[in-house]
Amino acid sequence: MSKVKLHDKEFAISITSKEIDAAVAKVAEGINRDFHGERPLLVVILNGAFMFASDLMKKLTVDCEVTFLKLSSYQGTTSTEKIKKLIGLNEDIKGRKVIVVEDIIDTGFTINDTINSINEHEPADIKISTLLFKPQALKKPVDIDYVGFEIPNDFIVGYGLDYDGLGRNLPDIYKIIE
Ligand code: 5GP
Ligand code: MG
Repeated sequence: MSKVKLHDKEFAISITSKEIDAAVAKVAEGINRDFHGERPLLVVILNGAFMFASDLMKKLTVDCEVTFLKLSSYQGTTSTEKIKKLIGLNEDIKGRKVIVVEDIIDTGFTINDTINSINEHEPADIKISTLLFKPQALKKPVDIDYVGFEIPNDFIVGYGLDYDGLGRNLPDIYKIIE
């Protein structure tokens, strides 16, 4: 499918599932190299990152554990900059090496908020992985350790990312047609 319609908007294919797979493999290689002999805890930011996290974990060869944090900031196609934390961390992460797994870093507000709330639990270390990064949209600087793709400042859907609930099931990534 080269185009899809979700609610009132049309989207055109932008990144194919094959390209996504190669980017996930690149992120996994970085983690496998850096965490050799360790046991990191992946903290997956729901909902959007579930598909990336699942494919990423299958490519990890180091011992690892996973937990989930549910946050939301988007309404429609714009970031609200107000983050609601919906499900918090209940695992004991004190002294653990944490890898945050995000779908996309846009303004950077969500990831900064996430780092702050994880830091309250006194981990040994926090690394950041994201499938997608929009450098032009960044308002709050953040050090990202593992990036799948840098993309322009367009609204995208697919591979876990939604437009008002729809599009998460698409295996490829689509960008909005303005
Ligand atoms: P930030 O706080 O960095 O502005 O936004 C982060 C969150 O907003 C992401 O985790 C993601 O859930 C959502 N988001 C940012 N850009 C997009 C986009 O282009 N498409 C979709 N569907 N969600 C996005
Ligand atoms: Mg997200």
